[in-house]
This record gives sequence, C-alpha cells and structure tokens, in this order.
Amino acid sequence: MKALVYMGPGKKEWKDAPKPILVDPTDAIVKVLKTTICGTDLHILKGDVPAVTAGRILGHEGVGIVEEVGSAVNNFKKGDHVLISCITSCGKCEYCKKQMYAHCEDGGWILGHLIDGTQAEVVRIPHADNSLYPIPPKANEEALVMLSDILPTGHEIGVLNGAVKPGDIVAIVGAGPVGMSVLLTAQFYSPAQIIMIDTDESRLELAKKFGATQTINPAKNDVLKIITEQTKDGVDVAIEAVGIPETFNICQDIIRPGGHIANVGVHGKSVDLQLQKLWIKNITITTGLVNTNTTSMLLKTVESKKIQPEQLITHRFTFDQMLEAYEVFSNAAREKTMKVIISNG
Ligand SMILES: [Zn+2]
Ligand SMILES: [Zn+2]
Repeated sequence: MKALVYMGPGKKEWKDAPKPILVDPTDAIVKVLKTTICGTDLHILKGDVPAVTAGRILGHEGVGIVEEVGSAVNNFKKGDHVLISCITSCGKCEYCKKQMYAHCEDGGWILGHLIDGTQAEVVRIPHADNSLYPIPPKANEEALVMLSDILPTGHEIGVLNGAVKPGDIVAIVGAGPVGMSVLLTAQFYSPAQIIMIDTDESRLELAKKFGATQTINPAKNDVLKIITEQTKDGVDVAIEAVGIPETFNICQDIIRPGGHIANVGVHGKSVDLQLQKLWIKNITITTGLVNTNTTSMLLKTVESKKIQPEQLITHRFTFDQMLEAYEVFSNAAREKTMKVIISNG
C-alpha cells in the first residue's frame, strides 16, 4: 500500500509501506477513504515532536471502511463505515473511566505519533470498540473528517473549558481550522458576541460567514484599545488557538474579572504569564489535549445540520496527490487553505 512516511526532520515521502495486520484481538484494520492534514503534522515534519521517529506514517484524522476486526472487537464488523478518532482509548483504565481518553494508559494520541497513522491506504486502529465511531447511513463523510480532531478540540478545550455561556462576549485568537471549530461550536451556547482575531484578512472574512460578530486584525489595529472601548472591562472568555506567546498575551490583556482564558494552541516555547496582573482578577486559565469525550454529541449535531463543518474544507485531493496537498496546506495564507480533504480514489 502507499502511505505518507516521515523520513526525519524536513523530509517526507509518499511511498510503499507494508499493509498493517491485526496485532491485538482488540484491533481493527480500516481502509482509509478520506483523510486530512493537521497543523500537528507540520510540527512533526519540522522536527518539533521528537517522539515521532523516521519511518512513521503520519496522520490522525479520517474516515474509512472496516476490512477486518480482531476476535475481541464487538461493536464493528467488516464493511462498516467508521469515523477514526485522533485519540485511541482502551475504555478500561483509570483515565478512560474519568473520560480523560487523552491520557489513556494504553492509548491517547498515538496515531501518526507513536504508531502508524491515517495518511495511508490502510490503518490499524487499536482498541477499535472505543476509538472508532459508526457513521450513520447517508452522512456527509467529508464533514465527519472534521470530527476526528479539530471539532472536538475546539469544542472541549476551547468552548467547554472556557465555559462559554449565553450572553458572553467571547474572543477567539487565531482563525485557523481549530479557531474556526471553536467559532462553530461556541454558537451552541448562545454567546452575545464572538470576536475573531487574526492577521489573515481572508480568514477573517470566512469567520464572519461562520458567525463571528466582529473581527480584528492585530497587524492593523490595537486589539486592547478596541476591546476596551467596546466592552465594559474586557471579554468573558478569551480562547487562544495559535500557540505562540503573542497570542497568549492578547488573551491576558483582554480578559475581564471572573473571565476564562482557554488555551487550545500547541506551544513550542514558554509564555510570559502575567500573574502579577491576573491574580486579582479571579480568572480561570485552562489548557489541555482533546479527550474526544464529546465526539458522539458532535456527530449528532453534524447529522442534524446544526453545524456544517464541511464549510471548513477549501481544497480536495486524491491520495496520489498527497504531497501536493501538503504543499497547499503548508502555504495556507498564499493558497487560502483552511482544511484539505484527501480521498482514496
Ligand atoms: Zn490534529
Ligand atoms: Zn484507557
């Protein structure tokens, strides 16, 4: 089979790789129908994630068809269409019992990280009963690819950790795929205003279409000044969806007393935590890795068209165009890329 293989920092190849086989009785072998590329894959390619070693097949998102299941898999059978979660979970360990699947003692984020991932014609999914979701008949499978990672990440680590409530003023810093997922899922909870902050004008335009009530470009405007003028004393919820000190600083500057800063971005270096200013404001700061404990709920909202995550897809490719898809995804500003879909045939 063909797969996208990490060959060490800065190097990747679309090449032949051995087809995965069942290893444990709880495994499923899934033929990948559609996959995508995540910002995390670009981090890995830069060499920022040293746990990923040369020879690893990347990718932790996708939908597919079950080809084979191990003897201990009860919920799935050959021919079932499935959504692959970016988080693998055994369902039995202490963390799984607390729904903290990200920290499963025999799982967590392992796909395309510690084991071979979904940017391949076929993938092995451990603990299939807990790590796959059945796809309802007639579902939009492209839309569901957004549920492998970005939508639950935006919803759980952004919206739920940020405790978005009716009437809140919410600021989202970063209008990339995860920031947009925050924007889509924040609307479940009826905030009064959603302010999207990003330096890319085309992404801000898109954010308005997806429900942002206001946009601010920090390259052209003083974010703190605008928010201070327009609100009493800042925003109720500030959600960081980039992962650099500058964007975390914006969140610290604009948060009002009693507010929540929810960090979603993956940071590569330390931030300057302004605790001397923040302690007296009774704020809550949260951060985390997606648990995917809301994936089933999100599936229902997509099925009922309450949200339409297919709006995030800007480019489509076939598997033999995998390297081109990476090129377009890595040059997001130039190509106006949000999410790409790569289909098997
Ligand atoms: Zn991801
Ligand atoms: Zn577990």
